[in-house]
Amino acid sequence: MSTDKTKYIFVTGGVTSSLGKGIISASLAMLLQARGFSVTIQKLDPYINVDPGTLNPYEHGECYVTADGAETDLDLGHYERFLDVPTSQGNNVTTGQVYQTVINKERRGDYLGKTVQVIPHITDEIKRRIQYLASKGIYDVIITEIGGTVGDIESLPYIESLRQLKWELGSRVMVIHLTLVPYLSAAGELKTKPTQHSVKMLLEEGVQPDVLILRTERELTKDIRKKVALFCNVREQEVIESRDVSTIYEVPLKMYEEKLDQIVIDKLRIKNVKEPTLEPWKLFVNKVKNPDAFVRIALVGKYVELKDSYKSISEAFVHAGASNNARVDLKFVHSEDLEKEGWEEYFADVKGILIAPGFGSRGIEGKINAAQYARENNIPFLGICLGMQCAVIEYARNVLGLKDADSSEMNPKTKFPVIDLMEHQKSVTNKGGTMRLGEYKCEVVEGSLMSEVYGEKFIKERHRHRYEFNNEYMDEFVANGMVPIGVNPDSNLVEAFEVKNHKWFIGVQFHPEYRSTVMHPHPLFVHFVKASLK
Ligand code: GLN
Repeated sequence: MSTDKTKYIFVTGGVTSSLGKGIISASLAMLLQARGFSVTIQKLDPYINVDPGTLNPYEHGECYVTADGAETDLDLGHYERFLDVPTSQGNNVTTGQVYQTVINKERRGDYLGKTVQVIPHITDEIKRRIQYLASKGIYDVIITEIGGTVGDIESLPYIESLRQLKWELGSRVMVIHLTLVPYLSAAGELKTKPTQHSVKMLLEEGVQPDVLILRTERELTKDIRKKVALFCNVREQEVIESRDVSTIYEVPLKMYEEKLDQIVIDKLRIKNVKEPTLEPWKLFVNKVKNPDAFVRIALVGKYVELKDSYKSISEAFVHAGASNNARVDLKFVHSEDLEKEGWEEYFADVKGILIAPGFGSRGIEGKINAAQYARENNIPFLGICLGMQCAVIEYARNVLGLKDADSSEMNPKTKFPVIDLMEHQKSVTNKGGTMRLGEYKCEVVEGSLMSEVYGEKFIKERHRHRYEFNNEYMDEFVANGMVPIGVNPDSNLVEAFEVKNHKWFIGVQFHPEYRSTVMHPHPLFVHFVKASLK
């Protein structure tokens, strides 16, 4: 693939946020991939944070981590789950990164004598980052999702960069605009005015969209499509309906019915394409929609009000459920509620318990209670990152008898820091991008539950943490039945534990959820669901 043949598809949004640009982008990418193209998706985020790594999940939902260690927007998780190909640092660009690069160049003297401005310096840097993915020479198509809503002050430089690229690259660039067509029950009608206005806004910024995708709760009639086409300078067949569906994984199939992929291929003048192979995907969707069994699993965390905080975990359960021909009914349990009288009640109806990743001490004792409950009641348990750390603390306190055992994150003065700051973290002062991040190798202990799960001796999993198991306590743990089952061969850090004489109890320091995809459900989730179903 020569880089001057790469095609660019931009996805913008209008009217309101949360219309699902990420899912639409991922769905289109999946359809093009199913036709044999090599596709990647990129997200441009208009905020000034360099990455979402330091953002509270309440602000921004889950922080997704790529194999190469970037802390990114949760949409990258959708991209990987739909495409089954890893994304990288280059797939998420923020205004913070763009300005940081330009300002560093200015300080170095690269622009000496020139006034540094939004146009052309900021837009050049944005265009460079969009085209950077093409420079790898492996992608036929790059889909770039522009975060935010058209009309936002913040996203102006991105839309301007898109305008320039469309001008420079001509028919290699196309724009898909996603909007909302609300239903007014008082009038008994779907309303197209917000869409018209948002297209007008895009036109004011110099961009004519090629395709409009309209989110709607009701069927878009031919008349409505006609009207939108007329007002927005697109052909009727380029007005596409995106109705609400019961699972996001159905969206690609709906987009195929609406011929989105065909329209794109025609617009971009791509020749000799084969029909997409959608059978495996359809099979998966069918399993998601028609499960043979149900199993309720508790997800214990402190951001449970905002389901987006645990996006990759919830999706991993959808994949693992389908692979067990079952549906996992996730019961979100607030860890602070597990610190109150009668908290055991929350687990009365669950068949498995997962403790989610997290930071800081809020709700930590509730999580430790949950680990104890799962262990003592022989309930399948999966602890992820902080979840594993809680299981270790619980075991230290209640089985090893180390009364004040803790993580030094929660209690720096603890007598028994069974979870402690990693050596190389002790000198770290900057918060952003300085955790142990991205993929690390792990050696699976032979004969362990872990080797049953993975069936491999060496695995690679993604990390995002500063603390780790304190190896000084290893002998005591092993002697008492909590044993390491995965160890980093280079640093000797323990990456996973199991508890012996238990139905299924695993804690992992890494984040398996980031690697679960539709086509490759993660084995830890698959086995955890299987154990919970038994
Ligand atoms: N706060 C813990 C640490 O930094 C766990 C992090 C996590 O769960 N991702 O080690």
